[in-house]
Amino acid sequence: MDGSAISAILAQGLPALGIDEGCIPQLVEFSRLLLEKNQVMNLTAITDPRDVATLHLLDSLAVAAAGDLNGKSVIDVGTGAGFPGMPLAIAVPGIRMTLLDSLGKRVAFLEETCRALGLQNVTCVHGRAEEFAAAHREGYDVAVSRAVAALPVLCELCLPLVKVGGLFLAMKSSHSGEETEQAAKAISLLGGKLESVTDYSIPTTDITHRVLTIRKLSPTPKKYPRRFAQIKKQPLGAPGA
Ligand code: SAM
Repeated sequence: MDGSAISAILAQGLPALGIDEGCIPQLVEFSRLLLEKNQVMNLTAITDPRDVATLHLLDSLAVAAAGDLNGKSVIDVGTGAGFPGMPLAIAVPGIRMTLLDSLGKRVAFLEETCRALGLQNVTCVHGRAEEFAAAHREGYDVAVSRAVAALPVLCELCLPLVKVGGLFLAMKSSHSGEETEQAAKAISLLGGKLESVTDYSIPTTDITHRVLTIRKLSPTPKKYPRRFAQIKKQPLGAPGA
């Protein structure tokens, strides 16, 4: 992979996010490892380096503007190939990142990649969010998640992991209004409050995405999260849940 296209896009896009350009070499190396491994396992459908720079790296880093993540403990729920967690772990000073995914092969890739990049601030966990919550309830300042589940389901996976006073940052499409309305009951039952809905442009593109900022105001009742089959069958707020 020729990293020069990625470097050039990042050099143009990072200042708009208030992120220091010193992280560019590590972000380029992460992209190289991702695309190399993607040839032998399914990590991402995005394979053009310019798209990796915008749709993966800059999109992930845009979430840093939604909450002050410096020095915070953050969990990325359903991180897949490491989005948004890996770019945040590389670029945000003092962040302590946990990357959680239910697919062992993806977690093995992330462990290998963290070793190769010398990242000391990342913990990779193979597990399901609703099970991980049993031992790590209210253990994180911030939970982030992108492209994992519809918001009513996602809130039950993520909010139990957030400390009271902390944040859940849900990365969504700019057409997620209906999904957000459907999640109102779930957010409140789980101890949260929707604080803001912010549309952002991915720097260097005309693509708009959205981040929902949900504040945890009170402890999540012990009966949540339920087992995944139940969460999926009757998302909180749906009739009968
Ligand atoms: N967040 C990444 C991104 O935006 O590129 C990956 C998105 S991928 C479509 C969804 C990922 O969520 C998959 O890797 C899947 O294994 C993981 N996942 C789904 N449900 C999960 C759960 N309950 N706990 C942990 N990981 C989960």
